[in-house]
Amino acid sequence: MDKSAPQRIIMRSTAWNDEENRVLPEMALDFMPEEKLRDLQLQRLRASVKLAYEKVPLFRERMDEKGTKPEDIKTLKDIVKVPFSMKKDLRDTYPYGLFAVDLSEVVRLHASSGTTGKPIVVGYTKEDMEVWAQVVKRGLLACGFRSTDIVQNFFGYGLFTGGMGIHGGFEALGATVIPISGGNTERQVMLMKDFGVTALAGTPSYFLRIMDVADKMGISIKDMGIKRAIFGAEPWSDGMRDYIEERTGIKCYDIYGLSEIVGPGVGCECEYCDGMHIFEDHFYPEIVDPETLEPLPDGQEGELVISTLSKRAMPILRYRTRDITAIEATKCKCGRTIRRIRRIGRRTDDMIIMRGVNVFPSQIETALLRAEKALPHYQIVLDTKNNMDTLEVKVEVTRDMVSDSMSAMEQLSKKFKHSIEQILGISVIITLCEPDSLPRSEGKAKRVVDNRKKI
Ligand code: ADP
Ligand code: ZN
Repeated sequence: MDKSAPQRIIMRSTAWNDEENRVLPEMALDFMPEEKLRDLQLQRLRASVKLAYEKVPLFRERMDEKGTKPEDIKTLKDIVKVPFSMKKDLRDTYPYGLFAVDLSEVVRLHASSGTTGKPIVVGYTKEDMEVWAQVVKRGLLACGFRSTDIVQNFFGYGLFTGGMGIHGGFEALGATVIPISGGNTERQVMLMKDFGVTALAGTPSYFLRIMDVADKMGISIKDMGIKRAIFGAEPWSDGMRDYIEERTGIKCYDIYGLSEIVGPGVGCECEYCDGMHIFEDHFYPEIVDPETLEPLPDGQEGELVISTLSKRAMPILRYRTRDITAIEATKCKCGRTIRRIRRIGRRTDDMIIMRGVNVFPSQIETALLRAEKALPHYQIVLDTKNNMDTLEVKVEVTRDMVSDSMSAMEQLSKKFKHSIEQILGISVIITLCEPDSLPRSEGKAKRVVDNRKKI
């Protein structure tokens, strides 16, 4: 099937009815005249830079070093005079070093899942919480979720921003939220059916797991009347979207965010699923070359950098997200004036360098889908054998793929190998595994295990 964008758009817009397509008053901010939006951004950027300079030693020191004073921000372009910030800055100032308000004003703390060592801590004032709920709500509205929805939210609740963040948005929308969090997959399937769920929220990789378990329980998700799902917190391809939509009849939408900025709700797709709109009245996006840190023009791929425009507890300036994307140069068909970024398939740091070749897990996902038109569960294992780095892809065969014949399985293995090698340009080892044998995450999928000998 040709997966070109126009086809996707036609398919999606027919799934909508006039009632849902209306521009509701809550959406007005997404359609603000561009000039007004830029004015608002400038005003807010200046306030945010001033707050960070006056209240956060790290930003003041960096700006002093660069010779930038808050008054130097006279136009939006002047943002290049502001120094960058990174995850390391949040770690180095753990736990409260970047807070710009007194702790008595902070009503919520979250911490990022983090990878090593101490987590990073983020805080919110009451107003910050209100903004967070509103941006998530605007994203949900843009994707067609409504107050009548009954939502099963299997994003993890707790310190991770996913569960509570999405919860706040649905609640602001007036939907009925089931705060089930991740885990206990059989119960997820049971409640989905018994509670008359119409909408889902969570990580797409965990939903694949739920689909498997429902299958095994002999329960059809397709017959449940679930209309939409909002997925995010990890990269997932268009192929994975088609796979889920075809099997379940559920329309899937992408939401993006990161703890350092607010959590989920920094950006979200609209009904056209052609990139994610950034809620630009609160978050200012830039794309820079990850090597030179020079700004890149719209349409060109680079590292996404975001500055918060209204956050009070923890203003963040020019935060290097490590996420690779581009700002779309063209207007979206929906008419929103807030700009879009392309969906995110990779980060600068989930990149695997294998024998000098850059490899992203998303490329392997694409290759597996291409070979079998189905998305098996997979894991990438890096190792060193005879002083040579190896890349093994463990592929769990699905029940449809299992065959008694050895040669059929060998054929399957060869097909995966060929498809991956064609895309990556390096040799890989394929190991086929029994259904359900690879570890599954109930939150973000952990795709890469690195056992390579570090020199
Ligand atoms: P951590 O960096 O510890 O995982 P977060 O939980 O805040 O912290 O995760 C934010 C990151 O998750 C983003 O920078 C991005 O890499 C990834 N992410 C979030 N939403 C999406 C999405 N819709 N598509 C792709 N990646 C996403
Ligand atoms: Zn749009």
